[in-house]
Amino acid sequence: MKIDLPKVDKIANLAEFKDYFYPLVLNLAKQIIEKERKKALLNLEYKDEQGIIEAIKSEYEIYKNLELKPLINATGVVIHTNLGRSVINEELLQRAQKTITSYSNLEYDLKTGKRGLRYNYTAKLCSMLFDCEDALIVNNNASAVFLVLNTFAKNSEVIVSRGELVEIGGSFRIPEVMASSGAILHEVGTTNKTNLNDYEKAINENTKMLMKVHQSNFNIQGFSQNVSASEISNLAKKCGLISYYDLGSAYVNELPYSLSTHEPPLKKVLQSAVNLVSFSGDKLFGSVQCGLILGKKELIDELKKNQLLRMLRVDKITLSILNETLKAYINKEFNLIQTTHQIYKDIDELTDMANLVKANVATPSKVVKTKTFIGGGTLPCKEYPSIALAFLGNPIELEQKFREKRVIGRIENDKFMLDFRSIMDKDLQNLIKICNEIFREQP
Ligand SMILES: *Cc1c(COP(=O)(O)O)cnc(C)c1O
Repeated sequence: MKIDLPKVDKIANLAEFKDYFYPLVLNLAKQIIEKERKKALLNLEYKDEQGIIEAIKSEYEIYKNLELKPLINATGVVIHTNLGRSVINEELLQRAQKTITSYSNLEYDLKTGKRGLRYNYTAKLCSMLFDCEDALIVNNNASAVFLVLNTFAKNSEVIVSRGELVEIGGSFRIPEVMASSGAILHEVGTTNKTNLNDYEKAINENTKMLMKVHQSNFNIQGFSQNVSASEISNLAKKCGLISYYDLGSAYVNELPYSLSTHEPPLKKVLQSAVNLVSFSGDKLFGSVQCGLILGKKELIDELKKNQLLRMLRVDKITLSILNETLKAYINKEFNLIQTTHQIYKDIDELTDMANLVKANVATPSKVVKTKTFIGGGTLPCKEYPSIALAFLGNPIELEQKFREKRVIGRIENDKFMLDFRSIMDKDLQNLIKICNEIFREQP
């Protein structure tokens, strides 16, 4: 039996692959020809040269498409961790782009012509906006927690309430992060109740820090009690300990739909005089992925001396975007903070958007009032109003069809719907086009 398969080299060097990335074509040619050889040895039908070329091309396309792609978030969840959390506004990115695409004074002091400090400009903006002594920026809030614990509490005890030993998702668990940072967890209280006395009793000569952790993605209701940030910071001060609040998400201005009443604003947390606070840059704050650590200058200085900072440091792209976000807050250009802009939209505006799509798509649909969550482990039990466009038709099939065209909606009451809380103005025309493509294909 003669097996008639082309040589890998010959295929990879064909003129029709001239504009392809050679190592990948070579690799695919090897794999595909090998697979065909196995089939041939089993006396099965196998591809001829043309078939192999086609197979390489189609595999190549799959590789080329393996990239991050923009999509339309119609889930209603504005801070959707799986969909990239906070969106960076285009105008804001353009402002940041000027420094990103040039050399800059990232670590250079223009006055003295000597080496400068990476975090200085950002820290100044933070102290203006938040009225804090100093600030430090790291890769994300998980890094912030790790750096704070490792710097101040390695081999020492950190007291945390049992009600706050949370798992955030993506395997961030407070007890485990603490263990890997070298800090020793001293749990106090119970799942539903912890009082100040529990902290007081637990303090011993090896205690370094009282830590408060935001419960983030869950909520204990009913018979429950926890100790406030200011009570914790007072006790820490009295006992010569450091107080630290891992806030998770933080917002600057009051939130609409009385969401603020369920969540302390950053200003209030800082007034509670905790020594250090950290939160994510891309949750309610609405900027780029990073972790902001705010607090006492002498403590921030200690953090800067930790070798770990070198591993957790952020680059100029992150800092430039963060700086522009901080400036937008300071200059009251709130429409440049896309996350809160979406959360602030009023029902009339969302209804207009839904009606516009409805009017331009030839299929039965209904504009409905609904409720949604903020997402990103922020305000887990607090729903707020939204408007959706619900379609007739098999919801499972529709969900899949929209997803194939990169529109992620949700199913509610057995209907597939697009929730306008998370749909951005700039998505609208494209969304209408996609709806029409889908419903034209419908039988
Ligand atoms: C989200 C969150 C974190 C992790 O922050 P990342 O920015 O995702 O690293 C840590 N702690 C709390 C309380 C959180 O809510």
